[in-house]
Amino acid sequence: MSEPLTLRELDAIGVGRLKGVGDKKLESLGSVGVESVLDLLTTYPRRWVDRTNEARVSDLEPGHEALVLVSVRKVTKRVTRNRRTMVNVVVGDGSGRLHIVFFNQPWRERQLTEGLQIAVYGKPDVYQGGLQMTNPIVDLIGDRTGRIVPIYPQSEKAALNTWEIAGWVEDALQRCAARGIADPVPAGVRARLGLIDRHDALRKIHLPDTMRDKEIARRRLAFDELLRVQTVLVMRKRALERDSLGIRHVVDGDLTGRLRAALPYELTAAQRRAIDEIEADLAGPHPMHRLLQGDVGAGKTLVAVSAMLVAVQGGHQGALMAPTEVLAEQHATGVRRLLDGVTVADPGSLFGERQLRVELLTNRITGNQRKDVLAGLADGTVDIAIGTHALIQDAVAFDSLGVVVVDEQHRFGVEQRAALRAKGDGDVVPDVLVMTATPIPRTAAMTVYGDLDVSVLDELPPGRIPISTHWANGPLMEEAAWATVREEVAAGRQAYVVCPLIEESEKLEVASAQDTYERLAAAELHGLRLGLLHGRMSSADKEAEMDRFRAGALDVLVATTVIEVGVDVPTATAMVILDAAPFGIAQLHQRRGRVGRGQQPSTCWLVTAASEDPDATNPRVDALVASTDGFELAEVDLELRGEGTIMNTAQKGRSDLKLASLRRDRELVALAREVAFELVDADPLLESNPVLLDELRLLFSADDEAFLFKS
Ligand code: ADP
Ligand code: MG
Repeated sequence: MSEPLTLRELDAIGVGRLKGVGDKKLESLGSVGVESVLDLLTTYPRRWVDRTNEARVSDLEPGHEALVLVSVRKVTKRVTRNRRTMVNVVVGDGSGRLHIVFFNQPWRERQLTEGLQIAVYGKPDVYQGGLQMTNPIVDLIGDRTGRIVPIYPQSEKAALNTWEIAGWVEDALQRCAARGIADPVPAGVRARLGLIDRHDALRKIHLPDTMRDKEIARRRLAFDELLRVQTVLVMRKRALERDSLGIRHVVDGDLTGRLRAALPYELTAAQRRAIDEIEADLAGPHPMHRLLQGDVGAGKTLVAVSAMLVAVQGGHQGALMAPTEVLAEQHATGVRRLLDGVTVADPGSLFGERQLRVELLTNRITGNQRKDVLAGLADGTVDIAIGTHALIQDAVAFDSLGVVVVDEQHRFGVEQRAALRAKGDGDVVPDVLVMTATPIPRTAAMTVYGDLDVSVLDELPPGRIPISTHWANGPLMEEAAWATVREEVAAGRQAYVVCPLIEESEKLEVASAQDTYERLAAAELHGLRLGLLHGRMSSADKEAEMDRFRAGALDVLVATTVIEVGVDVPTATAMVILDAAPFGIAQLHQRRGRVGRGQQPSTCWLVTAASEDPDATNPRVDALVASTDGFELAEVDLELRGEGTIMNTAQKGRSDLKLASLRRDRELVALAREVAFELVDADPLLESNPVLLDELRLLFSADDEAFLFKS
């Protein structure tokens, strides 16, 4: 047994076998998800304290934040007059004494026992002649020696402290020393990327000699996490390509050319690039699996229609699936307008051709109309189907589905995409284009959509004037928003008012929209022609109201979130978003994208409740005020929300990123993806790298990644 230890072997050794882990500690560790030595070794320190580099108490200066390493001398607790608990602690090092007070943290009395070594970070003030810190950050160090002390996530509840964890980790690492720990990254790749050996990295992250050591270790271990994710994604991508037979579409046919010729504008360079990338996929033998990212208004619809026409010109059908009925309806209107007058060959008819047929299929299409659409889909006389989930119901059969476009990926599950793909005939899998108007940063896209190819529309059609955005912090400033609306209307233009979103109940949402409508009609926007649009109206009523707005018979459209996407009225130049605070950056950006579509400058007001603090900021609102670039905003969003939200559907459980960050480790994400392609393309089933393959099998679930477990 001299082979290095694999992660699977480390996972098979219970932590109970380590020195000092008895039944009670075993239970504590279990309660924080640490059962095996592997779990323990991948419980990384959350901070490291450099003993040689910290201030001594005598170096502290009032008003300057600093870290000191001290021992606890005395702890007392009392309750203040206004019933707050106050824990007073005297700490010190050889150079002097420091007072610490904790308010409302009664448990500190139990935590900070006399003699304990702690690291204290905070801002000292002068108090009664001495120095005092209030509510500083405290890390327990215990009796650890060494220059750099790792601080592990501690759990008061589980009764685990950092020095215990550090001790067990050290014991575990010592026991691994004889055999070493297996490394899945080939030596050549390590050398090229300047990555240290994995065993070394594990030692250095837990027991670094210098702060630089642990940085080098972190880089290596973060790379491992990313490499695993990327390898799975790349294998999934290659497996899909290998296992499925696609249609070789006719890309130089008649229809796409005619569409282009009929457009009243030139394609943007980005649209041309995306169409070329898509057509290259469509012409190939494997089914396309591509993501089209583009900001609101970048012109995705045209790219999607062009892709569907490729299918149609080869005698196949196209389908566009949207997340809501309203959106599907809007797409149908838009696509019909684009394809008005386009004909397709029809040998059976008198003139040898017929009008290209676009049909809508949602749950609102019922009775004979539905029968008619279904029959047309089945016999191939419907060329393009636009709909909601209704399109993937069992009863829907296509004659020959060639290209599927899925709009707004984030609301569609992977399963639904799969169901739609399965609508192809026989063994042939349709090509799939996923569109999203919520741009996500490149590195995040590589991870979340890592099994897709990505096309980006990073350019808006010419002539768009950036929207100027303002924050109305409370009713006083809200008045300025209404003034904008009145001015725009007086100048012959139009405005949207977006009503608060009430997630719990559509009924409440409608009631609130009605209130807003009545209030505005009676007061702020008195005398203007107001329309109301909400989710409980029939689609005919909605359509009628939209038509009136489009035709200029209404000045202001008061609407719930139904106008989120797809509405296109170039003369609308003002938008007031009420109660903007709860919305995410992407949602606000989407809504705002409804203005700024014409020749005149547009304005968007984001209204939030007044804050008591006049200096209060709202980072999301600030971001929107500062930028109209969806990709830039996506970066900010990732920064603000962290990757958790992005990753949660893509990765879960043990394949989580513990060290790697999609924000900070952009370079590593790209490198990991590159290496993953290199490894998989040289050896599709990873037969020559059993260590890596075994790690993937260990850390990813069989349900999600069936292909890993084949063969
Ligand atoms: P998206 O779906 O990406 O938000 P749309 O496809 O709805 O954007 O397009 C937004 C608007 O831009 C539409 O009115 C469309 O007709 C117009 N448009 C699309 N491409 C161009 C172009 N190349 N030049 C000018 N206008 C364009
Ligand atoms: Mg669109």
